[in-house]
Amino acid sequence: MGRKFFVGGNWKCNGTTEEVKKIVSVLNEGQVPSSDVVEVVVSPPFVFLGLVKSSLRPDFHVAAQNCWVKKGGAFTGEISAEMLVNLDIPWVILGHSERRLILNESNEFVGDKVAYALSQGLKVIACVGETLEQREAGSTMDVVAAQTKAIADRVSSWSNIVLAYEPVWAIGTGKVATPVQAQEVHFELRKWLFANTSPEIAAATRIIYGGSVNGANCKELAAQPDVDGFLVGGASLKPEFIDIIKSAE
Ligand code: PGA
Repeated sequence: MGRKFFVGGNWKCNGTTEEVKKIVSVLNEGQVPSSDVVEVVVSPPFVFLGLVKSSLRPDFHVAAQNCWVKKGGAFTGEISAEMLVNLDIPWVILGHSERRLILNESNEFVGDKVAYALSQGLKVIACVGETLEQREAGSTMDVVAAQTKAIADRVSSWSNIVLAYEPVWAIGTGKVATPVQAQEVHFELRKWLFANTSPEIAAATRIIYGGSVNGANCKELAAQPDVDGFLVGGASLKPEFIDIIKSAE
């Protein structure tokens, strides 16, 4: 079963209206492989979702960077899955390490968010990944398996989930995982899905890599058999994001 290459751009908490317009115009002018070959999703901050959605080329899609864990209501400062659906935002990033670590989102809380977002019809980029300490202690697979299990325990279909492996030590550090390191964890994650969900889910689920991906290192990573794309932070704000999209070919 072919897995379509997936490139996500996580803009995090960056940008002014002017900067956002500039990024969108670079994206709109970029020569990239067709949407049969690569699925491209960019994730601006909530406040720019409308602007980006209305000005972005139609073959690229948008994602929110988070949403509330259940139905909206008296939750000051939160944005509900229903609101994203109402605004026709198809994707949401959940479980990013910056939220797990800085905002103390637990595996269970992230699992609940993924299940609720899917139940409302959103597609989810679900992030997992170990810290440097955990890697050095040899617990990488235990950590990412526990994070993935909290999702698997709560969902039955994985057809609207893209799993993003993002080692925390590689995020925003310029210290990208080597292709061998990325492939190793992606392979193990697929094996985990095979054993704990189903062979079909394991074969079909896209497992993408994130952490200091750039125009120079993407080709070699993309060549790994279990690397089905990228979640890009810093470089997604720059013209080289187009080069990363091209690594799908
Ligand atoms: P980075 O971020 O590409 O800037 O390392 C990746 C991410 O956090 O999704």
